[in-house]
Amino acid sequence: MRVAFLGLGAIGRPMAARVARLHQLAVWNRTAERATEFAAAHGATAVATPREAATGADAVLTCLPTSADVEGLLDGPEGLEVGLARGAVFLDCTSGDPATTRRIAARLAARGVAFADAPVSGGTNGAEAGTLTVMVGGEAAVFERAVPLLQAFGKRIVHMGPVGTGCAMKAVNNTLLALNILGLAEGLTALVKAGVAPRTAVETLNASSGRSFVSEALVPERVLTGAWPSTFRLALLHKDVGICIGLLEELGLPAPLLERAAVVLGAARAALGEEADYLGPIRLQERRVGVELRG
Ligand code: NDP
Repeated sequence: MRVAFLGLGAIGRPMAARVARLHQLAVWNRTAERATEFAAAHGATAVATPREAATGADAVLTCLPTSADVEGLLDGPEGLEVGLARGAVFLDCTSGDPATTRRIAARLAARGVAFADAPVSGGTNGAEAGTLTVMVGGEAAVFERAVPLLQAFGKRIVHMGPVGTGCAMKAVNNTLLALNILGLAEGLTALVKAGVAPRTAVETLNASSGRSFVSEALVPERVLTGAWPSTFRLALLHKDVGICIGLLEELGLPAPLLERAAVVLGAARAALGEEADYLGPIRLQERRVGVELRG
């Protein structure tokens, strides 16, 4: 197939690399050098505009920070919308918001382009290994078309429901991830302050009912070791919690815990900056409490 991939960021890049193994791939990135370098490394073609990427493509994949960024790519004489052919399929892997996503889908439907939101979970390692979970929102027929493409980087590809439900699922997932990070930051530093060795605290937790992916994988691999790799920006996790709160608002539901989490994450984001990694709040709490979770 002729595929276009737009957005070669931390996760888009390894996803696109796996697509390049299977399909004829055109890539576009806002910072053009990243696309040129990617194309040389993976046998793809770097193009200068979103329109050029969409021209002649059977499928278009996007992976940008927000749905608003994706919507922005549709616009203008050099935008995606002009290049897209009737009958093409557009899969947005952005962790986006349901409302903007539905608007994008309607706009594309009017041009005869099928659309599904297809956000992913599993991190940059999962993207490299092709083991991502993909949460798809769209019509059943679009889902069927999307599966073979998404298998390039996805292992578990789930049809969540109509357009926007992939984004909704992803926002709830990442909000639970955020709550775990914030809870562990406060709880583990308190335990160390109280005299428990960091590794003992983590290992005991992981043999008990409070354990989670964060305590079982992220804390041992990244915090206890002091490795602190940068794989997912805190700013994007904060964005995801905002999307989740928006979802609850749309449904007329209260979200007292999530609103508090958004405030704490927002403060960490302001303190650490736009490029900080999503485990930054743990480091921030270490500094506040005056302990280090190493060992
Ligand atoms: P990054 O911040 O690493 O990369 C963002 C990409 O989008 C870059 O290619 C950037 O271009 C481009 N971009 C940013 N703003 C615009 C814009 N206005 N118009 C066009 N292009 C733009 O993000 P990630 O790759 O980490 O994340 C992408 C999406 O995937 C997000 O929605 C995120 O929440 C989600 N995600 C990320 C995961 C991760 O582990 N990193 C895991 C699961 C989901 P440029 O190179 O010019 O800066």
